[in-house]
Amino acid sequence: MEYSNFFDDLKSNIIGQYEECKAYRILCESQGYNPSEHLRSEKDITNIPFLATTLFKKSANLFLSLLRVEPDKLDKWTLSSSTSGDPSMVGRRNSDLMQIRKFVLMDDKFYDSASEYNCVFYPEPKVMREYKSVRIMDKPTESYIGNLLGIFDFSENTTFLLKSCGEGFSVDMNSFEEFLKFNNERNNHLSLRGSTLLLYNAVLELKKQGKGPYNLGSRAIVHTGGGGWDGKKGNISIGTKIERYQFVEEISEFLGIPQKNFRDTYSFTENTFPMDGHYSEKLRSYLFHVPTWGRVIIRDVKTLEPLNKPGDRGLVQVLNAYGTSSFAGASILVDDIAEIVANDSCPECKHEGMTFKIVGRVKGSEAKGCGATLDVRGKQK
Ligand SMILES: [Zn+2]
Repeated sequence: MEYSNFFDDLKSNIIGQYEECKAYRILCESQGYNPSEHLRSEKDITNIPFLATTLFKKSANLFLSLLRVEPDKLDKWTLSSSTSGDPSMVGRRNSDLMQIRKFVLMDDKFYDSASEYNCVFYPEPKVMREYKSVRIMDKPTESYIGNLLGIFDFSENTTFLLKSCGEGFSVDMNSFEEFLKFNNERNNHLSLRGSTLLLYNAVLELKKQGKGPYNLGSRAIVHTGGGGWDGKKGNISIGTKIERYQFVEEISEFLGIPQKNFRDTYSFTENTFPMDGHYSEKLRSYLFHVPTWGRVIIRDVKTLEPLNKPGDRGLVQVLNAYGTSSFAGASILVDDIAEIVANDSCPECKHEGMTFKIVGRVKGSEAKGCGATLDVRGKQK
């Protein structure tokens, strides 16, 4: 089976990154780490030095140093959505983007891309990809959402609800309402996808206008991604945090979609493998699965030591064996805080592998603390 030799593939990716990315090699050397010597078996993976996502921020000015290839070999720069105007910048080649696509295709049961009617809280892929694109070192910038929209197979019957409006976008509320009316009480196979904040806002707006409720039925799914639970995402802000259970419970009730049909994808700009999550009514949160082609390590926020007991909470580190040929993305620490739900299999759907939920994010100052210096891990044991 493809991806069945995760450890060997990870090892060669780490060694490749060590050899091709000078900044990563300096980090390793400062910790006395040489992957060819120290990475012998899967149990050694917690010792792999990691780069914090803060180092990929434009303001850190290291994005060129974090490449594994010359900039002229890149196809584009992927930019994170940024509230502060300081996005992450990740240089990618098309082959690395195609790897994300392969992972998405392997999880098609989860993404349910064949649903007959689709309503997406994003602009059309081409519009999103070109939105505010500039050239850096002669390569175009593109948002991470643009990357993902560009590789996802949307079925023919898809309505993209975000329309260009001045400098930004606005939600086409008429089309949204028509979609709901058309599908009401018909139990059609359909999906609502995209931005959590925009979907939530649109539903609030309809409620305020005294519209609905609707009954879309058991074949409808709500698939969100890209976070925004703190009430902010890029230039969208609703000024208040949304609890995940609040989002699911309110929307489930208003649209008549079972809570178990709510899904969320966890990933971030510097990562390659998307992680699928389904809502748990019992835990009132999304449970995310780590696929066999990736690994996640949860680290104590203060000591950065790896944690492993269910209930332990800490920062998320991802290990990528695939799809980071152009940048130093093999071992990344992100400022989200996750709680380990189970190490071996999902307690609800029995999906094999680690299961976690996202419980928050490190506050700005703390996050800076863990990414400010390259030598973030202290001495190698
Ligand atoms: Zn599960």
